[in-house]
This record gives sequence, structure tokens and C-alpha cells, in this order.
Amino acid sequence: MRFVIVGGGPAGHQAATYAARLGAKVTVIERDVLGGAAHLWDCIPSKTMIATGGALSFSRRMAGMGLDATESSVDIEALASRIGEITHHLQRNVSELLTSQGVRIIMGSARFTGPHSVHVDGPDGPEQIEFDTALVSTGSRPRIPEWCQPDGDRILTTRDCYPPKVIPESITVIGSGVTGVEFVHMFSSLGSKVTLVVSRQLVLPGKDAEVAAVLEDDFLRRGVKLLKGARAEAIERDDDGNVVVRSDDGRVVRSTHAVLAIGSVPNTDALDLAAAGVIADAGGYIPINHHCVTNQPHIYAAGDVSGKLPLSSVASMQGRKVAEHVMGLHTIEHRHLDYDKAASAIFTEPEIADVGLAEADAFATGRKIRVTKVPFATTAKALINDDPRGFVKIISDPATGQVLGGSIVGRHAAELISVIALAVTANLRVSDIVESLLVHPALSEALAEAAE
Ligand SMILES: Cc1cc2nc3c(=O)[nH]c(=O)nc-3n(C[C@H](O)[C@H](O)[C@H](O)COP(=O)(O)OP(=O)(O)OC[C@H]3O[C@@H](n4cnc5c(N)ncnc54)[C@H](O)[C@@H]3O)c2cc1C
Repeated sequence: MRFVIVGGGPAGHQAATYAARLGAKVTVIERDVLGGAAHLWDCIPSKTMIATGGALSFSRRMAGMGLDATESSVDIEALASRIGEITHHLQRNVSELLTSQGVRIIMGSARFTGPHSVHVDGPDGPEQIEFDTALVSTGSRPRIPEWCQPDGDRILTTRDCYPPKVIPESITVIGSGVTGVEFVHMFSSLGSKVTLVVSRQLVLPGKDAEVAAVLEDDFLRRGVKLLKGARAEAIERDDDGNVVVRSDDGRVVRSTHAVLAIGSVPNTDALDLAAAGVIADAGGYIPINHHCVTNQPHIYAAGDVSGKLPLSSVASMQGRKVAEHVMGLHTIEHRHLDYDKAASAIFTEPEIADVGLAEADAFATGRKIRVTKVPFATTAKALINDDPRGFVKIISDPATGQVLGGSIVGRHAAELISVIALAVTANLRVSDIVESLLVHPALSEALAEAAE
């Protein structure tokens, strides 16, 4: 089985590793770095900067932990090299893993030339590669609207923020979805004055309103300005080099920098999908079935290009499912990917995580649910941590006790949600959580209490 994978991000390298382990002859073609945008620009650098911001805000709260408070400051060069080291380390891990599985790696840009062939402009010159099966896992890039011309200096996309050259004195974040609020948190904890342009009345559209409200309160407490009901429609530099953002209702925000966080577009335009007979939708995303198969039975799409949930974790799992299907394992043991059961997190402070059915969705469909909510303040560990913010909310079926979903706001929410995610995926009941012998003192005690 000659299996060619275009794009070595989470979807591509996961598919490559599993398929090679199962006996396929795998070639991965990657134009930038193995590990993909996830390692180079998205998940890893943003979370590394957020971790430094978190350490800084913790240092400001040290007095509450019985320590002498000292004033820490950011060493921008050290932070930049820390990001470089972490991403380099992760890229090397991916490269070594693929090589150890016998995967051929070609660094270059690929495009289809027929239903069973791709052309690569690699370091050793152009090459034509034939395949039996292919995977398109070329990811996505930041969406840039026609009214904005990022300059990489003061008007930024999320990708221009790493490695950081300066901590902006002030920054306007445009877009209040997951990426936007993470950037608000990141820059505000590193010391920038932040304004968030929110096109609706609440941040995080589509998320639990109660969760979004907690986050807004925290932003306001930290001095973040929220420009609500404002749709940005122009960005320019003034004579002093500052950035001026204008909204459709005439409001104006001035700051030293601005960053766009208004979604992404798929990397499919340069692939010549038509040569392979693969159909993309009007937005450039490639429709797939539950096995990640495109309209061509031997060509798969996974990760951001598939237009499903744009998460690295989902991309990886899709890659794994593709490998199973390519190698025929789905006929033996295969669980379809259920995107409604994907856990996700927002790395703000407090951290936010959710999985499965949301309260609002249940009310919208009239489904009967039981909602239980326990604040972390009831646990000893929250007091020990000097951080009683947030809560655990579990949504279950009142008749059967089956766990349907949940959300967590508070410290380590991204880790703690795993318990509810497992319960949702394995169809466990609330009593299964209650009867688990958990650790004391731990934040997970709030989970057990919420499951009561
Ligand atoms: C700021 C930000 C933060 C994020 N944080 C998180 C997070 O914390 N957790 C999370 O789960 N998700 C996060 N995401 C989303 C996550 O980054 C993406 O969902 C994930 O990268 C998708 O993986 P992928 O394999 O589809 O694509 P990518 O990671 O984008 O990899 C695709 C690869 O394909 C290559 N490629 C493209 N075209 C070609 C071509 N023609 N030939 C050869 N190679 C090509 C690209 O160079 C790239 O390396 C974040 C996104 C952003 C923007």
C-alpha cells in the first residue's frame, strides 16, 4: 500500500505513524516543519507564552501564599528562545518517530497531478510520486479580511506574535472566539493594556453563557476594555506609528499594536485538487464522510482542511482513524469519531474546558437534563492553592444517570475535563464518578461532588 500524506501536522504525522506501524509504505510531504502549524504557530507557542504570563501573574499573588512578594518582569529574549527550544524539541520528536517507523519524509510543497499522483518541489528538485491512497492534511492559515493589511510589525496575525519581539504597550484584539480571548489573556498577563473588540454582546459565541460571563468578569477585573457590539471594519497606522481600529458604529480604538483573531481559511488553494477529482466546498474545505473519505474513495482529508472541529486533538484522532481505515482495520474494531464528544479547552485565567452536551443546546431541543454545579471554593485544595475561582458543572440524563457533558472553569480545567470526557465517551453514569476513589486534597473532589 503506497500511502502519500500531504501535510505533516497533527493529522498527517499521526496517520503516518499508525499506517507505517500497520505495514503501509508511507511518504509524508511537508513544506514548512514537521508537527505543522500546531507546533510552529498555534498551540505550542501560544501556550508557552500563556504559561509565562501565568507564572508572572502567580508571582504577583505570592503574598497570598505566605511568600515575600517580589516584582518579576518578562525577559523577552529568554521567552523567545524558550518558545524556539520547545517547538524545536517537539519537531525533532515527530521527525524521529516518523523516521523510526520507516516513513519517507520529503520537505517541499506538493500538488496533485492526477488521481494517483502528486508533484513535489523538494530540496532535491522536482519529483513525481505515485500513490494508491492519499491523505490531504494541509491545515489552515489565519483569515485576513479585505479591510486589513497586516504588516507583521504593529498590525499582526496570530502568527506574527512569535517569537515575540516586544511586549506591546497596548494591543487591540479583534475577534472574541477562543483564539481571541486566549490572546487577550496572554497579552494582559504579560503586562499589555488590552482592548477586545467583541462583535456580539458576550465573548465566546457558542459557549456556555455562564462560562463566558465568568471570563468577562475576570477580564474587567484585570482592566481589559471590552468594546461590545462592535464589528471592526478598518485598521490603519497613524502618523505616530500607532494602530487605529475603527468599528462599523463609528467607534475608534488606538493602541500600539493590533492582532487579528477572526478565524482561518483552509490550505487547499495551491493543491490542484481538481487534478485528483477531489471536490472542495465554496470555502475551500474538503467534505468527508465518517471515515474521513472524500468524494474520491482512495483520497482522505483530515484536520483543519476537513472543516470539522479545528482542534489539534481532533486532527490527530482523525489521522489515526484514517490509518485504521486505509489499512482495513475498521472492519475488525472501529469506533466512529463523534465530534460532539470532543473535549476542548480555553487557556485563559481561569482556565475553561467543556465536553459533550451543553446546557443551552439541551434547552434548545427540549431534552430533559439534570445539571449539577459545584464551586471549587468548597474544596480544601482550592483554598490551599489560594485560588477558589470557578466551578464544575455536570450534565446528565435524569432517568439513567448517564453523563452527557460538562464544563469546568478554574485552575487545571483542561486536565480535569478528562474525567468527564471519559465518562461521556464510555457512556458512564454519574454514580461511576461518585464511586471512584479519588485523591484528597484535590480539585477533582469538586467533580465527584458535582456528580452526586
Ligand atoms: C493561535 C492558535 C492556537 C491554537 N491552540 C490550540 C490548542 O491549544 N489546542 C488545540 O487542540 N488546537 C489549537 N489550535 C488549532 C490547531 O492548531 C489546529 O487545529 C491544528 O494545527 C490542525 O492540524 P492539521 O494537521 O490539520 O494542520 P496543521 O497543523 O496546520 O499542519 C498542516 C501542515 O501542512 C503543511 N502544508 C500545507 N500545504 C502544503 C503543501 N501543499 N505541501 C506540503 N505541505 C503542506 C503545512 O506546512 C503544515 O505544516 C490553535 C489554533 C490557533 C490559530
